[in-house]
Amino acid sequence: MTTTVPEQGDAAQAPDPREGYIEGLEALAQLLREHPEVPLPSAGKDPNNSITLYLFDEPLAHARTLIPHMTGTSIEVDTAGSYYGVNVHGTLAGLSVRLYMKAEDVCERRVTGRATSPDDRVLQEVVEWQLPAELLDAVAQADEPACRLCGCTENEGCPGGCVWVPDPEGKGELCSSHFISAETLVEQQIVRCVEWNDGDPVRILRVQLVAGPDGETSVRYQDVAAQHPAFDVLVDRHHLVLPAGGSRG
Ligand SMILES: [Zn+2]
Ligand SMILES: [Zn+2]
Repeated sequence: MTTTVPEQGDAAQAPDPREGYIEGLEALAQLLREHPEVPLPSAGKDPNNSITLYLFDEPLAHARTLIPHMTGTSIEVDTAGSYYGVNVHGTLAGLSVRLYMKAEDVCERRVTGRATSPDDRVLQEVVEWQLPAELLDAVAQADEPACRLCGCTENEGCPGGCVWVPDPEGKGELCSSHFISAETLVEQQIVRCVEWNDGDPVRILRVQLVAGPDGETSVRYQDVAAQHPAFDVLVDRHHLVLPAGGSRG
C-alpha cells in the first residue's frame, strides 16, 4: 500500500470552508428533523436572535440578491455603535435574519448642521446618512406579506389556491398549502397545531372519524417527549395541522 501525499497548493485536496459550513447546517437541520424532541437552536428563531450576514464586499449587490427572498423587511441606520451601520431586518425562509452593511459603504453622508462654539469653532457636525434609493425600493417590495415557506402572496397564491393559516410556530405568514386536514392524520405522525401543546410538536396517537352530521374527527395527541398526559380533542375533519418538517410534500 502506498500513501498519497497531497501536493502543496492542490486545491482539490483542501477542504472548502464555505462548503463545510453549508454541510454543517444541512447536517444540523437533518438531526433536528430526525429528533423533533430536541430544542431548536436560538439563532434565527426570533428578531432578538437574528442570523447576521455581514456584507462587507459589494454590499449592495449581495443585498439585492438576498432581500427579494425576505419578508417583513425593515431597514434602519444604526448610529449607536462605534461604526455606523445599516441593518436590514426580516425573515428569510422562516428564519430571522439581519443584513449588516457599513453606512459609509452604501449611504451618502450629509452634513445637515453644525454645532459651533461662540468663537465659531465647529464642535460637532450633525450627520445624516442617506439610504440609497435601490436599497429602500428593494426593502419596500419585500415588505409585502408572503408565506414563509413558499413565498406566495395575496396576489400570487399557490397553484390551486391557498389561504392564510395561523402559524403554529408564530414565525410569520404561512399558507394552507403546507397543511394537511385532521382526517388524513396517521398514528405516530408528528405535527404542529397552534391550539395544541402551545404550538410545539405533538405525536398523533389516534385518529377517529366521528359518526354524525358534522363530520368531526376525534384526535388523541401527546407532546413528543411524552412528559404530559395525552389529550383528546374533537375537531372539524378539515381542521388544518402542519406536519413536522414543514411541507406535506
Ligand atoms: Zn406557502
Ligand atoms: Zn400559498
